[in-house]
Amino acid sequence: MSDQKVRVRFAPSPTGPLHIGGVRTALYNYLFAKQQGGTFILRIEDTDQTRFVEGAEEHIIESLRWCGILPTEGVSFGGDFGPYRQSERKDMYGKYAQQLVDAGYAYYAFDTPEELTSKRKEAEANKLVFKYDVSSRKEMKNSLTLSQNEVKSLIDNGTPWVIRLRIPENEIIKFTDGVRGEVTYNSKELDDKVMLKTDGLPTYHLANIVDDHYMQISHVIRGEEWLPSTPTHILLYRYLGWEDTRPAFYHLPLLLRPTGNGKLSKRDGAKFGFPVFAHNFVKADGELDAEGFKEYGFLPQAVINFLSLLGWNPGTEQEMFSMDELVKAFDLNRINKSGARYDYDKAQWFNQQYLMSSSDETLAALAKPVFAEHGHHPDDQRLTRICQLLKERLVTTKDFWNKGSYLFEPVTAFDNEKIVRKKWKPASRSLLEQLMSQLIGLADFEASAIETTIKAFMEENGIGFGDVLPFLRLGLSGTMKGPSVFDIMEILGKQESNKRMTTAFDRFEAISNNS
Ligand code: GLU
Repeated sequence: MSDQKVRVRFAPSPTGPLHIGGVRTALYNYLFAKQQGGTFILRIEDTDQTRFVEGAEEHIIESLRWCGILPTEGVSFGGDFGPYRQSERKDMYGKYAQQLVDAGYAYYAFDTPEELTSKRKEAEANKLVFKYDVSSRKEMKNSLTLSQNEVKSLIDNGTPWVIRLRIPENEIIKFTDGVRGEVTYNSKELDDKVMLKTDGLPTYHLANIVDDHYMQISHVIRGEEWLPSTPTHILLYRYLGWEDTRPAFYHLPLLLRPTGNGKLSKRDGAKFGFPVFAHNFVKADGELDAEGFKEYGFLPQAVINFLSLLGWNPGTEQEMFSMDELVKAFDLNRINKSGARYDYDKAQWFNQQYLMSSSDETLAALAKPVFAEHGHHPDDQRLTRICQLLKERLVTTKDFWNKGSYLFEPVTAFDNEKIVRKKWKPASRSLLEQLMSQLIGLADFEASAIETTIKAFMEENGIGFGDVLPFLRLGLSGTMKGPSVFDIMEILGKQESNKRMTTAFDRFEAISNNS
């Protein structure tokens, strides 16, 4: 294994949009490959035609592209080991299923779906679960129980069959998992899984092993839900004579709900109001099926950073990692064993950090479409000024609008009327009107000049900040929270500031009269 080149794969099935847990699996594979100078492969495992979802493959690829987890080889990326879509390799698998049968490691089974259903029902009635396994296979219709002649005539007559793996009786199957250490199963726990289906297509298990072998995969890094399948895979490597080049296994811990109880599911996104996908998935009929980080206003760097620490720890206090830093720091030996709680607050915190440290140009490029969506197209200079102002206040890019809409649209409500009732005095209006006329007289209506004028005015009139600033703030932006009033004024400009204050004076008076 040691001198084998690192070749890893991400092997999703296109059965729906790519869940964020899948993105994390892809990321860990990618980081490891990059670090080792290896190859990261995208293989689409689409042999289960009944579960195929239109658009899922495109969603997977677009998720990887958006995150910057680019495969070196694979569907849509080319390479020498293709095709990388299993449905295009379907003729490759049959011979291995046959090889297993010929060597006595697998057998034909002729049980009809009805017969299997009735077995399942029978078991259920006794509060049991039917398993096609070492003991039950003795009572079923298969090439282990039927004579050679019977088998031959069934096949010749065109009776539908499948090929099942013949799990050994009472054998200990041991393997090392890079995350969990030595893992042991008793073959009694396993069932005789179908390898080749009635439609001639392989199941996941056979196709996965054949392809990992053929594509010279060195390390299998995948979700924990595949751990129980691994003993079957170990047997397959042995039975196909490929034990020498068997990949090393690493099973990543589950992503858990924020509450810590149970696996994070697609439904949790809607339930808790956060994304569990990289980007939106719109079904073929146009229905929005899943919401993504991208549309929530996240930067891919933040999502990557967040995911990198969901299941891996650097062993230091460092939290902020660029992709390049991750490639250097990532360590397969530091994958956590226990499930990783999906902490959306932490995801938001990362996004905030990345937005805060973005350049003005980057922010302007992010803000432009957000404002455009609301029908506003500020010129570059104004856009940059707005971005500088809002920078520290953004959690997602949607906040360009949530926190800055008043820079474009008139104020319709005040978020703090209490302060008006408390501070508005009979003389306030005339004082503030005087102040506004001084400000309008400024040759250069920019923040520092505005600040100097306001401060001088307060001093001259013997009044304090509380007599002036809350009213300017509310009148100009509608909110007591936000950037400095001087900056807001500059961005709004003379005319608009004056217009807003004039309207506000009437409202202030009305509020104070009503109290
Ligand atoms: N096709 C499997 C999936 O959808 C791949 C599991 C594996 O990596 O072996 O996750």
